[in-house]
Amino acid sequence: MIWGRCLVSAGRQGCRCKVSFIKRHYGFLPDDVKSLRAVVSPDISKIRNIGIMAHIDAGKTTTTERMLYYSGYTRALGDVDDGDTVTDFMAQERERGITIQSAAVTFDWNSHRINLIDTPGHVDFTLEVERALRVLDGAVAVFDASAGVEAQTMTVWRQAEKHNIPCVCFLNKMDKPAADLKFSMESIRQKLKANPVLLQVPVGSGKNFSGVVDLLTNQKLIWKPGSARDDGRVFDTQTLDQCDEPELVQEVGEARAALIEQVADLDDEFAELLLTKFSDDFDAVPPVKLQEAVRRVTLTRKGVPVLCGSSLRNKGVQPLLDAITAYLPAPDERHHDLVRWYKDDLCALAFKVLHDKQRGPLVFLRIYSGTVKPQTAVHNLSRNCTERMSRLLVPFADQHVEIGSMSAGNIALTVGLKQTVTGDTIVASKASAAAAARRAQNHSGSGEGERPDIILSGVEIPDPVFFCTIEPPTMAKQADLENALSCLQREDPSLKVRMDPDSGQIILCGMGELHIEILHDRIRREYGIEAHLGPLQVAYRETVLFEASATNTLDRTVGERRHVATVQLTVRPAEGAACEVTFTKELEEQLSAGMKEAVKSGVDSSFLQGPVLGSPVQGVSALIQSVGAEAGTSPTMVSACVSRCMLKALKLAGGQVLEPVMSLEVTVGEEHLGAVLGDLAQRRGVVRDIQSRHDDKVLLASAPLAEMMGYSTALRTLTSGNATFSLELDAYEPMSTQDQNSLLRRVTGLL
Ligand code: GDP
Ligand code: MG
Repeated sequence: MIWGRCLVSAGRQGCRCKVSFIKRHYGFLPDDVKSLRAVVSPDISKIRNIGIMAHIDAGKTTTTERMLYYSGYTRALGDVDDGDTVTDFMAQERERGITIQSAAVTFDWNSHRINLIDTPGHVDFTLEVERALRVLDGAVAVFDASAGVEAQTMTVWRQAEKHNIPCVCFLNKMDKPAADLKFSMESIRQKLKANPVLLQVPVGSGKNFSGVVDLLTNQKLIWKPGSARDDGRVFDTQTLDQCDEPELVQEVGEARAALIEQVADLDDEFAELLLTKFSDDFDAVPPVKLQEAVRRVTLTRKGVPVLCGSSLRNKGVQPLLDAITAYLPAPDERHHDLVRWYKDDLCALAFKVLHDKQRGPLVFLRIYSGTVKPQTAVHNLSRNCTERMSRLLVPFADQHVEIGSMSAGNIALTVGLKQTVTGDTIVASKASAAAAARRAQNHSGSGEGERPDIILSGVEIPDPVFFCTIEPPTMAKQADLENALSCLQREDPSLKVRMDPDSGQIILCGMGELHIEILHDRIRREYGIEAHLGPLQVAYRETVLFEASATNTLDRTVGERRHVATVQLTVRPAEGAACEVTFTKELEEQLSAGMKEAVKSGVDSSFLQGPVLGSPVQGVSALIQSVGAEAGTSPTMVSACVSRCMLKALKLAGGQVLEPVMSLEVTVGEEHLGAVLGDLAQRRGVVRDIQSRHDDKVLLASAPLAEMMGYSTALRTLTSGNATFSLELDAYEPMSTQDQNSLLRRVTGLL
């Protein structure tokens, strides 16, 4: 009944309805869901699991909103600037206008099912991007056509490359006076080392940008301004008029010839077709043949189709949707190696966990094989436990539609999985996992030894670079805080929580300032705890400068039992960041497996807490030269003896602090460049290059993370808000003696 009323008022007063849906937090009105019957598992060839990747502010959220609108799933156009979009559904995102959570959104277009994952653009959330890419089959890269390829896109692009994900590029913001097609194409070529395949020519530029000519069909698509609602739903399609616009006709003719030539270069099948059947007139090649060839080129990543438009001005989004269905792969066109061992049994990856106050944890699954059904038990292979799935939902924005089953290729939202953590592999049962393991083993023929890999690889979690203490407002809230943190950790494995053994304080470790700030905010909003954060600190590492040896003897009586152990070892700097422990040849033969374990665990614990600051150690190798233990000595005591000996050796080998150094890209107007450079010099920054981009300067630099705290505020002040920047961890680098000493003085309070 409530719906009925809402719909009536919506008919008369669109805006009021818009306001009410924000308040009630419904993404859209149920009537707008096209037909719930359509929400069955579609044929796998019709599914597209797509992500949108972009630099912050390029227009991902706006583009996603337009897609939902044109496909009929939202009634009103959401606007990021008003803070009422469907995908940016967390309160902080609305306030900050950035996309943090990769929310999955499902909708249909052209009888295809599109599952869209809105990936975040902020560098603090690269893990979210990585997690999203892991379950995608294709991606749309959205660019600001006046800026071309920006730093964060390069990072995400590299990640997409790693996962072999075919992409389509969308040059957004063509309505901006500074929009520049040629420049953007060139920057895709230069910065992404990709091969852009232009499929459209824009009609008009800047404010007069009104549409595009589709180079495959020679059709002109025009969005007429000033139409009744001007929402871009309706647009004119006409064959390019020969006499009407001679300049455009010529431009299109040249661009089409270039396209045909380029595709022929990249695709042998198309080249052969041209030469055998259309050698007289390349232009006569049927659009469908050209489209098939572009698809092959896209799927093999030999090229990336490029389209243009303006999401904010409601132009060019429908052809982008067409391109998603036409060029990007269906799930069964992607190669997921180990999935075949499961045959038709369920194999799925939990790629996202969200906490819902009423329903408990919601787990997003990407189904690789088999089918999931509600009210069934599934086996979590990563955690080796069996859990019951109570309900199965399709994630239409923040509206979740219940469904009876879901098959391979889809993305599903499940209720009831309580143990599952982001990154876990979910299968039908223990028995089905065993069967898959058998198939894998028979195939490899290896027989014994190696356990065949039947677990989907989860997301690589980078080490956190920041940490701070967190305290509940009162001791009574301690348990609540711990509970909130453990829920948040299941959602976000890049958050690490540990207890300081000396002070008993809880320590939060995260990926960046914003990451920790957002977590703090969520603890307040979602769990109602006014937690207290200590000052943000940088996570340092330590290494050694030279070789050193040490010996240590432990002699301790606990109760009746006397433990006596002696160890001698050498540490030295090693190549790369890893730490390793080896034994001399004799020890390798003499020592029992149990003794070796005890020694190794002693060494490992000393690598966790270096001798200078107590930070993790990297790039050190330890050689164990002798170990002796009298009868009755426990392995724990051997470990303790080794660990103390390691500490001595690491100290003797000259502890060196390594600090995270970031690569920084700042885009700023020329008039503010001096101020930005001056500020950067005070932050121990090193400028690597200054490039020009239209009227702006792009500053490439590196700077220690410790000096970059509060940079976004500082930059805003320095440039009156006329600059953007991105930061990315470059490497851990040794600090100069002077910097290290002043850090030590600060840390030990001897200032
Ligand atoms: P995101 O950070 O990539 O999600 O980008 P948003 O969708 O939040 O958009 C960032 C800003 O760019 C907002 O102020 C949008 O209104 C604006 N914007 C998005 N698309 C366009 C466009 O096509 N043209 C212009 N001129 N501005 C746009
Ligand atoms: Mg956004």
